[in-house]
Amino acid sequence: MRVTLGLLVVGAALASGCQHHRLFGHDDASGGATVRPPKPHIVWRPIPFSAARRAETAAYANRHYGLDTWRLERPRVIVEHYTAGTTFGSAYATFAADVPDAELHELPGTCAHFVIDTDGTIYQLVRLDTICRHTVGLNSTAIGIEHVGTSDAQVLGDAAQMRSSLRLTTWLQWRFGIRLRNVIGHNESLTSPFHHELYAAWRCQTHGDWTHADMDAYRSRRRRLDRRYGVEVGPPARPVSSGC
Ligand SMILES: [Zn+2]
Repeated sequence: MRVTLGLLVVGAALASGCQHHRLFGHDDASGGATVRPPKPHIVWRPIPFSAARRAETAAYANRHYGLDTWRLERPRVIVEHYTAGTTFGSAYATFAADVPDAELHELPGTCAHFVIDTDGTIYQLVRLDTICRHTVGLNSTAIGIEHVGTSDAQVLGDAAQMRSSLRLTTWLQWRFGIRLRNVIGHNESLTSPFHHELYAAWRCQTHGDWTHADMDAYRSRRRRLDRRYGVEVGPPARPVSSGC
């Protein structure tokens, strides 16, 4: 938790932020002080996350990552997605239903921590201490952000949605000390240095949402906010060979 009352406390929050960044290996090449980016308005719209779903999530994490926990201990990556649908309601219904997914047929049901609607409304569906199933190979370390829409270009062309997306991503980066190079599109999952999948049949599985070229466009817009907030960017992406 971070407090914002009083200059002394603000100073303490900044200091803890710096320590936070060191703890998470945040790049400090610029040597500059970080400034807290404002937290965007977030509408809490939780999906049911019962004890049963938590147990299914822990079993999933055990099968795929060798971690017997439903807890998202240390987010290091943010994965951007689009829903391939046209409404927040349909995305919410899909994520709320804890049923095996249509593609890979496993439990728990798929989900994302955030869904950003086309009007820029940011909904949070899942707590940030909880693993959400949105990206094969990265769920134990990644926060998932969905955008209502049917293509990268549609989201990139929606000024309200992009504004919210960039503000949310910037705030999450600051909150968890996540480097910009680890803000990736779903389609970049296989070349993330954090990608890890024990189940061989899924090792090369990914989706088409948010290609590298479109994420470069996203990241360059994101970088512009750094001048405003003083958030450190770190060096450019260093994708690893997927071997796929
Ligand atoms: Zn996706």
